[in-house]
Amino acid sequence: MRDGAFSFLAGVVPDGIMISVNIVTAKGLTKDYGPLRAVDGIDFSIAQGECFGFLGPNGAGKTTVMRIIYCFVPPSSGEVRVFGMEVKESPGRIKKKIGVMPQEDNLDPDLTVLENLVVYARYFDIPKSGSLRLASELLAFVELQGKAKAKIGDLSGGMKRRLILARALINEPELLVLDEPTTGLDPHSRHSVWDKLNQLKEKDTTLLLTTHYMEEAEKLCDRVAIMDAGKIVTIDTPASLMQLHGGDLEDVYLKLTGKDLVLP
Ligand code: ATP
Repeated sequence: MRDGAFSFLAGVVPDGIMISVNIVTAKGLTKDYGPLRAVDGIDFSIAQGECFGFLGPNGAGKTTVMRIIYCFVPPSSGEVRVFGMEVKESPGRIKKKIGVMPQEDNLDPDLTVLENLVVYARYFDIPKSGSLRLASELLAFVELQGKAKAKIGDLSGGMKRRLILARALINEPELLVLDEPTTGLDPHSRHSVWDKLNQLKEKDTTLLLTTHYMEEAEKLCDRVAIMDAGKIVTIDTPASLMQLHGGDLEDVYLKLTGKDLVLP
């Protein structure tokens, strides 16, 4: 458990008793885009320190769910609480505690690597001296310390993804939302991102990710929700799903969605 986070429970919960605190809870979550129901009345919860993955074919609604959680789009109906706060009521307070690694590369090509981090830190009201210190720590964490002055256009695809990960960590988030964090990366770069995500897990950061790579889900996720056409087909641990349905996670995915994996 994160130091101090639930210190009010000290003395109430006996030592050695594990309590599970939900960071995200969704009940009856629905999202309509005009006549299209992108997310169709889903329920789920994500516990503190958990790595939770959304899997599913293109258009299943995964990105939409993530966007609702990080308060980028509002739900059409249902209740979504993040850190106990309703997304429609407290988007500003929720956003302060979340880091987001979007699917697309939205780094600013006119700024250097370091400037991309420092400018982003302003959204969180982090003073310049603090943001410079944090930025250099994060560049070291993602192994880009030698690239601080480089332009974005000079980075490889893997370096850009690692920089976007560093940017997502600038506010020291308790919840990190990762939309296809390793799509398009070569195996070496993919393993490098997995390594960083595992280090964050060890520090008790809650991770929420979408991926089309079943190996990624198996390696990182404590539980996965398989989505199809806006609904959740199942939620379970990868190990339980494989035991219940047979084969590996890709076989389970194919069986439950009836669709082939379309790898990006
Ligand atoms: P992918 O794996 O391709 O990223 P996904 O599971 O993340 O897909 P979403 O991006 O959530 O799926 O999209 C769900 C549905 O909602 C799709 O039919 C998509 O076209 C539609 N959709 C998403 N965003 C919008 C939008 N801003 N306006 C209208 N329709 C949208």
